[in-house]
Amino acid sequence: MHQFDYDIGIIGAGPGGIFSAYELVKLDPSLRVAVFESGAPLPERHCPIDGVRVTSCVHCKSCAIMNGFGGAGAFSDGKYNITNDFGGTLYEYIGEEEALSLMRYVDDINCSYGGSGTKLYSTANSRFKKKCMQNKLQLLDAQVRHLGTDINYIVLENLYAELRDKVTFFFRTPIDHLEEAGTDGGFRLIHGSDSHTCRNCIISVGRSGSKWMEQVCQSFRIPTKSNRVDLGVRVELPAAIFSDLTDELYESKIVYRTEKFEDRVRTFCMNPNGLVVTENTNGIVTVNGHSYEDSARKTDNTNFALLVAKHFSEPFHDSNEYGESIARLSNMLGGGVIVQRFGDLERGRRSNEKRLREGTVRPTLHATPGDLSLVLPKRIMDSIIEMIHALDKIAPGTANDDTLLYGVEVKFYNMEVALNSRLETSRPGLYVIGDGSGVTHSLSHASASGVYVARQIMNVS
Ligand SMILES: Cc1cc2nc3c(=O)[nH]c(=O)nc-3n(C[C@H](O)[C@H](O)[C@H](O)COP(=O)(O)OP(=O)(O)OC[C@H]3O[C@@H](n4cnc5c(N)ncnc54)[C@H](O)[C@@H]3O)c2cc1C
Repeated sequence: MHQFDYDIGIIGAGPGGIFSAYELVKLDPSLRVAVFESGAPLPERHCPIDGVRVTSCVHCKSCAIMNGFGGAGAFSDGKYNITNDFGGTLYEYIGEEEALSLMRYVDDINCSYGGSGTKLYSTANSRFKKKCMQNKLQLLDAQVRHLGTDINYIVLENLYAELRDKVTFFFRTPIDHLEEAGTDGGFRLIHGSDSHTCRNCIISVGRSGSKWMEQVCQSFRIPTKSNRVDLGVRVELPAAIFSDLTDELYESKIVYRTEKFEDRVRTFCMNPNGLVVTENTNGIVTVNGHSYEDSARKTDNTNFALLVAKHFSEPFHDSNEYGESIARLSNMLGGGVIVQRFGDLERGRRSNEKRLREGTVRPTLHATPGDLSLVLPKRIMDSIIEMIHALDKIAPGTANDDTLLYGVEVKFYNMEVALNSRLETSRPGLYVIGDGSGVTHSLSHASASGVYVARQIMNVS
């Protein structure tokens, strides 16, 4: 007779939770592992926006884009970056070599479950390093596996097929509360009037579970800190303008230090021949982007975000609330995402349907033409304009009047949960991984943290 229903309970079936489950049952197939996921199984994840009857977010109870098997990454571009330069700070907990080796391990698994035909890009020996340097830009080091939205989906399908008979999945089962199971350790996972117990618990609730995570930290008295949010716009331009860079590197992470404020602006999530999309986090609509590996689904445009990091000090702690307030302001003015031509922004006027129609760049997202300078603080707007002119020197045409800017793009950072080098909280047996821990902000780091914790629990290194 077992004392607990499961040896290990995993909350969240995003990349962190999936890779934990994968590694646990690989190390010991007799383990009783359960995954609790608030969203639906992969094939049942459908956003109601069809562009015809439903054209904007209807705020579903569980967002099909963010929640369900595959997590926030399920319909993403599937860019797995193998680097410690960005994507999270996992290396600070487990060491640089270990972090890179786990990211390579995840890459091998993705390849063996459907991603083998995809390309691994690298910045090593890139001629763009010098070109960037000569123009006050810094190209960050990385290897990136681009699965593409379509192959990423296939990899997830294959991983689920591998796991479904070895792991117990509970879909549409949001865990409302987490409690200690009793004096002998273990945890009770409560959903509605039902509950399950487990000896060890891995929390992998991602960005969408951030508010829930805060409550758990409060009730278990686990210290947290939060002071950063990144704000900016998504740039969309003809793919030809960035093709030298994207053909060689696919995604380049470029950082610029502005002359005016010495603020750091960076490119983020570059999608060659991709699509601009909306994203819904806790009812707030922001902008994002993705692209397909399948050439039939490619567009003529490339998009990427330009983000400025905002760090706050005393007495203000709620950096996410600041980001949300600005996103809400854009939602209030535009009913969702706002789009503006760069030329209109520089001339201090709003874009309208006519100016957009006359422009040469065809928007891939239907957004409301407007004026982003009414939404983003001047300091952020000035930094973005400066960065666009800096990028124009390495990719001429970036600062063209018809370049489109969508806003706002917000990169929320989960509060950082206090964890030891095993990614375990002060409660023995309670682990927090992935984006919900504040340690990772990417598919590769979240997945690597999942594998790492599985090995820690099994005492395998
Ligand atoms: C549109 C988009 C594109 C992206 N593109 C990329 C990219 O190309 N490359 C990259 O590196 N990163 C990308 N990201 C970020 C990436 O998806 C995340 O970093 C990654 O998914 C984090 O994994 P995770 O497992 O920590 O969390 P998530 O993927 O967010 O998964 C968490 C899961 O937990 C579930 N959950 C939350 N709370 C509960 C609860 N109380 N009970 C039960 N279940 C719960 C959620 O439903 C969700 O399915 C993108 C994100 C988006 C939204």
